[in-house]
Amino acid sequence: MGDAWHERAMPIPFIDLQAQRKRLGQPLEDAILKVVRSGAYIMGPEIAEFEAALAAFGQAPFALSCGSGTEALVLPLMAWGIGPGDAVFCPSFTFAATAEVMPLVGASPVFVDIDPATYNMDAASLDAAMAAVKREGRLTPRAVIAVDLFGQPADYPAIAAVARKHGLKLIADSAQGFGCTLGGHHPIHWADVATTSFFPAKPLGCYGDGGAVLSKDERLHDLLVSLRVHGQAVKSDIEGKTFEHDPKYLNVRVGLNSRMDTIQAAVLLQKLSIFADEIRARNRVADRYAAGLGDLVTTPKVIDGGVSVWAQYTIETDDRDGLAQHLKAQGIPSAVYYPIPIHRQGVYSGYPTAPAGLPVTEAKADQVISLPMHAYLTEDDQDQVIAAVRSFVKKNAAAA
Ligand SMILES: *Cc1c(COP(=O)(O)O)cnc(C)c1O
Repeated sequence: MGDAWHERAMPIPFIDLQAQRKRLGQPLEDAILKVVRSGAYIMGPEIAEFEAALAAFGQAPFALSCGSGTEALVLPLMAWGIGPGDAVFCPSFTFAATAEVMPLVGASPVFVDIDPATYNMDAASLDAAMAAVKREGRLTPRAVIAVDLFGQPADYPAIAAVARKHGLKLIADSAQGFGCTLGGHHPIHWADVATTSFFPAKPLGCYGDGGAVLSKDERLHDLLVSLRVHGQAVKSDIEGKTFEHDPKYLNVRVGLNSRMDTIQAAVLLQKLSIFADEIRARNRVADRYAAGLGDLVTTPKVIDGGVSVWAQYTIETDDRDGLAQHLKAQGIPSAVYYPIPIHRQGVYSGYPTAPAGLPVTEAKADQVISLPMHAYLTEDDQDQVIAAVRSFVKKNAAAA
């Protein structure tokens, strides 16, 4: 009893999904109920409608909805036949799923260091890792997965140049960054595919699990459509052929079941309608944090020409645990993404890293801490967060 959390009228949420739900109101609930009443729970009309809307938003010719952001990464690796003996390059400072999909298809992740200012993949480290893998000759470089960490675009011009130089496919893992742009372009402008996740806490989330693969090659999209549903025969498999049975039950390759539920597409159609406005609101919150904290702590730096969707607002401090405790005592939640880089985790520790190691990744993993960030953070609540961080930094400075 009597702790700070209970004394506040309302705790400050880290991410406020309920404020968004209230804003979307009755039309959101009607859209869900419509699917419930229609009976079209799997691949109902909302799926194609949402895929078209998502493709338009992300400036991609094609979009495929799927079961999760993880499967959105697995599907293109499967489509390209990436497997045992193949190397796929990715950052280690990311959510585990980015690297998990390589062993899932039998391939090896190769971990690359990050840029100290943006936390995103360092193209020079990528180039060095690629050269080392080629020199060693044990693995065949096949693809690069760049991550739009915390919502901001990776350095796609530099990363794509390295990928192209070595003839590799480029995936933009935009699970945290869907909607981000660089020079006005979405990541698919440079990448072969861009993937995203609709896990509820992502900037564009649904009410369960879901994901999507954006692409620009019709043959690849067709293959993804097949792989999403058990390798079913698709247009390009059937064209010009005749069949004894309904080709719907012809399974021409090994795939999986990675359909998105119709209800989630209905939810996402509603959420997508306000997403651009929410991105602007998140940027206003980020600007206020920078103005309120930038003189005392290291605040995020977005790449020149980039627009972040601010999945996280992440600052750096040498006393992260102290700051987290100080915030918690005032009812302010915080989170650490990511305390243990992937290459330091048991099951991933045997995979190769860039030849110079990952010194930036390891340093940042000890310093980062993320503050409440969402489109509905009020100025009053944000001012409390800012005041709490400032009082902690000043107290520490006085003690030092
Ligand atoms: C969340 C996330 C994923 C995985 O998405 P799920 O929908 O949870 O499977 C992949 N990559 C990154 C960078 C993520 O943040």
